[in-house]
Amino acid sequence: VKPRDVHKVLKSINVTHLHHANTVTTSATFLENGGLLSRRYVEKHKLRQTPQSSDQIDKEFDIWDRVFVDHVDIHHRAGRVKGPNQYGPVLFVIELDAILELPAESSILVTKSNPTHWQEGEKDGDHWFATPDELAANISKGDFDKMLVIQTKNGKVDFPSGAVEISLDDPKRKLLSGVDAFEHAEKRLRLAAKEGGVKASIQPHVCRDDCVCIAKYKGYDARWFDSRFI
Ligand SMILES: [Zn+2]
Repeated sequence: VKPRDVHKVLKSINVTHLHHANTVTTSATFLENGGLLSRRYVEKHKLRQTPQSSDQIDKEFDIWDRVFVDHVDIHHRAGRVKGPNQYGPVLFVIELDAILELPAESSILVTKSNPTHWQEGEKDGDHWFATPDELAANISKGDFDKMLVIQTKNGKVDFPSGAVEISLDDPKRKLLSGVDAFEHAEKRLRLAAKEGGVKASIQPHVCRDDCVCIAKYKGYDARWFDSRFI
């Protein structure tokens, strides 16, 4: 589907921003390179990224070379109080209009369901909306299983005008090194942004009053916790 058609549908349901969550390590790589990058791009250019549990599925269904974004912040899981985003504590928040600036050959597909629920032998039509009309008839704001999958020629989605807004979880917890996780992550991201010449505005994630992310982070295994924030 053409980016401008997806833009039109999203605008009609009052979407204003796109969201992409990742670990601090992978996010630093994005900042150093000036945009969101597909898993394949990072691998091909021998850059650093944290393994994700979705990698196997992405490779199986041949979507490893695309950039995934959500039309809502899924930190709160659309109303259910589930806590931190499983992909990582760094949330890139990008203006919806950024998809109008994608290079000419780009396309955006929207999933009908989360790829983790896809089965082998299903058809493309089971996974993706085929037309803007089909998309418009089925998507509503907050329906986070409908993920936007952006395909560009090189697997990169540049930050519009070299600027990006980042919302960073503050888990109120220290890393194994004894350093506060939020402070470390913020510093690392700032350095990476400087390196990549990106104007990054980094703010603590604004949680709902009933958000349980701090309690959830408290329960994380120390090594797993470090792998998200280091
Ligand atoms: Zn939270």
